[in-house]
Amino acid sequence: PGVLHVVATPIGNLEDIGARALTVLAAVDAICAEDTRHTRKLLQHVGVERPLLALHEHNELAQAEGLVARLLGGESLALVSDAGTPLVSDPGFVLVRAARAAGVRVSPVPGACAAVAALSVAGIPSDRFCFEGFLPAKESARRARLQALAGEPRTLVFYESAHRIEAALADMVATLGGERPAALARELTKLFETVLDGPLAALAARVAADPDQRRGEFVVVVQGAGEDAAAALAEGRRVYALLAAHLP
Ligand code: SAM
Repeated sequence: PGVLHVVATPIGNLEDIGARALTVLAAVDAICAEDTRHTRKLLQHVGVERPLLALHEHNELAQAEGLVARLLGGESLALVSDAGTPLVSDPGFVLVRAARAAGVRVSPVPGACAAVAALSVAGIPSDRFCFEGFLPAKESARRARLQALAGEPRTLVFYESAHRIEAALADMVATLGGERPAALARELTKLFETVLDGPLAALAARVAADPDQRRGEFVVVVQGAGEDAAAALAEGRRVYALLAAHLP
């Protein structure tokens, strides 16, 4: 059988494409891409020309079987997404799982990932962290999700888009507390890269006051709950469990 290569692409700066990514992309029979037009531009930039197949969240389930058949038939394929590492808040999981289930070798070509890039510069503890990806779009669901994370002692990492960053930061202040140390990594590796840090309340105020700080793509890194908060929450859960056993 062929190999499924899972290839990371840049998150902004095209020079971040790796040398091995170029070799692998040029060598495969076809490249599965989240958005073929977007990937074609990247390939043109690096002088690689290979057949492109669309693989996105709406057709992944339908396409996976046929792609696995091609791999079993001996073709090698690459999987890329629009930016960064496939499967990280991006399509690919269904295909990778199906390929592995069929005994196909799945091999990574590692590279950029916005979450890891943000952690590497945030100055927030990074020895343990929870990647939360995108928060729910609706405020009630977003607050509920954040509330559920309020006692988490590990650093939290969120992805956010320009049109929701202000609301998301306000909800973080309301649920996690304005004092929590955090960092806001915007447009990493691009022209307007900025990494702001400070208590959540200060970051939220800064973003609310300056429309420029609401443009682009964001990673929000939030320090985990202090031991006091984590312990209080654990104690609350313990007491609740004891009480719940006696409730009708
Ligand atoms: N697979 C990608 C990765 O490995 O990071 C993530 C894809 S996800 C659909 C896109 C989100 O990643 C954006 O909304 C933003 O939160 C984050 N992101 C991607 N590129 C970024 C950048 N250059 N700077 C900051 N955040 C970025």
